Amino acid sequence: MKCAFCSEELPKGSGIMYVYKTGNIEYYCSSRCYKNGIILHRKINPKEMPRTKKVEAKAEAKKGK
Ligand SMILES: [Zn+2]
Repeated sequence: MKCAFCSEELPKGSGIMYVYKTGNIEYYCSSRCYKNGIILHRKINPKEMPRTKKVEAKAEAKKGK
């Protein structure tokens, strides 16, 4: 099975299995992929994720130097 977010192959018994009310099952390799995947399904802009903000902040710091 593959991670629903990053499509990385994950071995059986590892990762997170998420079951929707509709019966759809999705697997996530890590809690990060799980959070991102669930948020993406809720159609929230992934650019608003804190992780992206941190990366942007680092890039700006490098420009300043
Ligand atoms: Zn993943």
